[in-house]
Amino acid sequence: MKVAIIGGGLAGIAAAYTLLANSKVTEVHLLEATGKYGGRARTDTTSIPGFAFDKGAQYIQDPDINPLTQIAKALGFDTVEEDAKYLLRVDTDQGWKDESTTTPPVQAVVVRIQKSYDSAKEQPNVIVSEKPGKTDDVELFGHATSTYGPFTESAETWQYIAADRAREAKGGDKPNLFVKKGIGSLVAAYGQRIKPEHGSRYVEHFDTTVAKIAYDDTHVTLSYNTTTLTVDACIVTIPVSNLGNGSVVFEPVLPLAHRNALKVLRLGSYKKLALRLRTSPAAIVPGTNYYLTEDDPAGVWQCYRLPYADDVLVAHAAGNFAAALDGLSDQDVYTLFKTRVQAAFDGVFFTTGKAITNWSSDAAAHGAYSYSAFNGGGPDDRDALSARVTLGTPVKRLHFAGEATNLGYYGTLQAAYFEGVRAAQEVLT
Ligand SMILES: Cc1cc2nc3c(=O)[nH]c(=O)nc-3n(C[C@H](O)[C@H](O)[C@H](O)COP(=O)(O)OP(=O)(O)OC[C@H]3O[C@@H](n4cnc5c(N)ncnc54)[C@H](O)[C@@H]3O)c2cc1C
Repeated sequence: MKVAIIGGGLAGIAAAYTLLANSKVTEVHLLEATGKYGGRARTDTTSIPGFAFDKGAQYIQDPDINPLTQIAKALGFDTVEEDAKYLLRVDTDQGWKDESTTTPPVQAVVVRIQKSYDSAKEQPNVIVSEKPGKTDDVELFGHATSTYGPFTESAETWQYIAADRAREAKGGDKPNLFVKKGIGSLVAAYGQRIKPEHGSRYVEHFDTTVAKIAYDDTHVTLSYNTTTLTVDACIVTIPVSNLGNGSVVFEPVLPLAHRNALKVLRLGSYKKLALRLRTSPAAIVPGTNYYLTEDDPAGVWQCYRLPYADDVLVAHAAGNFAAALDGLSDQDVYTLFKTRVQAAFDGVFFTTGKAITNWSSDAAAHGAYSYSAFNGGGPDDRDALSARVTLGTPVKRLHFAGEATNLGYYGTLQAAYFEGVRAAQEVLT
């Protein structure tokens, strides 16, 4: 059997290993639009010399069930446990003041989310019945955290947090792991081992953007550059943004259910920057995440120093705030953040070395990670509930995988891995 995989992110890599472990597969072709493996796990090792800046994924989440924990060990990549504290640094009439996120108002939000989850659990996408009310800085804190992630563009913020809490309740609350050399470097190294391990049965096609996918009951023909490739089955791991925006033509068009799912599934916004510090103020304690509110555009910065690279200040932004920052020039974003952090802390000065992301304009993704938007406007929207399951349903010899088709862990690397394996197993049955 000859199989093609579109996309060299973790879903595509996991699919390739699974297919190649089966002797009835004679040829696997992996087609990747960029020049390397990794997809949305991408490490920048040059902008800040000596520091591995993860532009996309950065944490191994749920490390006890995450295959990357073992893969990191096997490939000799050192990991460091995140031991994070969280402080909301608020600009008050009396100057900047720290507020712990364990204070009653913040915890009240957490309790409401838990209650929402309890009343709506075990549904696909975990629709949360009650969205916590707006409570100024407390809600802004929520929008800034990685758990609340890029979903502020949709109602799914609350679904996602509830799903996270459900995992924690099931024992998945081990600390996240950082990969010192970068999680993007780890995923790339894992992809680079496929060829040496599987030789001539495996063909890599880099800088290859698939423009057309023609399929019927027995074959799939892919068109790219001026060439075509015909295979017995194809696993598509292209991010939902690029699947839904018409940049890949399907012949015949996908069934209506899949097209509707692609209208619902979207990628949210997430922005990251990192700056090398000339002076490392004691007030910014490594391992603590600080949240700083921003006025224009409105939102919250999350910033921190890593315990293993304390001369670098990393900042994140999520949701609508990140989308607004993606619309500014890189220089304006650096200036905005520097001004904010220098107002909040005395003695912060920077030196040469800085890095920034703009996932909105990234041709391979056009966004960060998936959420399901309510088209019908609320928790009863069946399309939002079923979109991930629908997209993951095979169409003739086409199989869809990637973080967005996973119910339990969508938006993560482990989701991508699990879905790559699942799609490969479907092809083999
Ligand atoms: C800023 C940010 C922070 C994140 N933080 C975390 C985190 O801390 N922990 C975590 O677990 N996850 C995190 N994630 C999510 C994680 O990165 C993704 O869930 C995961 O990488 C998705 O893997 P994938 O294989 O499904 O898709 P991708 O990694 O996107 O792979 C798809 C591949 O398809 C290729 N492609 C696209 N179109 C075509 C085409 N037409 N032809 C050929 N190839 C094509 C792309 O180039 C890409 O390589 C983060 C993501 C972002 C962006």
